[in-house]
Amino acid sequence: MPHKSIAVDVAALNKKYRHHSATEVLQVALKELAPRKIAMVSSFGAESVALLHLLAISDNTVPVLFIDTRLLFAETLVYQADVSEKLGLKDIRILRPTRQSITREDPYGALRFTDPDRCCDLRKTRVLQEALDGFGAWITGRKRFQSGTRKELDFFEYDADQNKIKVNPLAHWSAEDIATYMEENRLPRHPLIDQGYPSIGCAPCTSKVQPGEDQRAGRWRNHPKTECGLHMENQVQSPIGERA
Ligand code: SF4
Repeated sequence: MPHKSIAVDVAALNKKYRHHSATEVLQVALKELAPRKIAMVSSFGAESVALLHLLAISDNTVPVLFIDTRLLFAETLVYQADVSEKLGLKDIRILRPTRQSITREDPYGALRFTDPDRCCDLRKTRVLQEALDGFGAWITGRKRFQSGTRKELDFFEYDADQNKIKVNPLAHWSAEDIATYMEENRLPRHPLIDQGYPSIGCAPCTSKVQPGEDQRAGRWRNHPKTECGLHMENQVQSPIGERA
């Protein structure tokens, strides 16, 4: 069951800061949610560098959690190291599923074909849940424009499953806002963007996107799955159910 006082806090934060900028929302979160302990979760994907930059200029000591599923593009791993160094982020935590869990549950690396929900659960969700154990709040880079399932995203959400507050400082940003921010701040681009990947996840589950398609259309193409499980339905703030 959702924790009532937390749900109220989240509603109050959304009401108070609904017309504020991404920078202000991030800084409010870092200050007001500090007692809960807060971390950022980043995929170091196509647009991640904008929010990572906002964090670096606000407080570069905040932990940044990065999940290496062991099935990422090699370009993402190189980009992660490069961006972390360039931005001066001091506390990057690279999380991986254990070799034992992979051997036990996905010994042939074929789970992504037979049951991608279980594959994401093994390689992402459980890994993150364990890493978030010591935190009461986390910052994500999700945005409303990314897909139909995110069009009502708020700045602050209550994650009832984990009893944690999620903060989405870029919720109201458009693709153009991000591109402009990256250009004006001369931020490094993920090398796969120019090859037709506006949204980048694991290599086997990410394909190129055609003009006019949703930005995330290349994720789990030809499969009803749209979310990896890190962002389950928010039972308090959002009426929209996102797939695990
Ligand atoms: S995105 Fe694909 S390969 Fe990566 S964890 Fe999920 S199902 Fe497995």
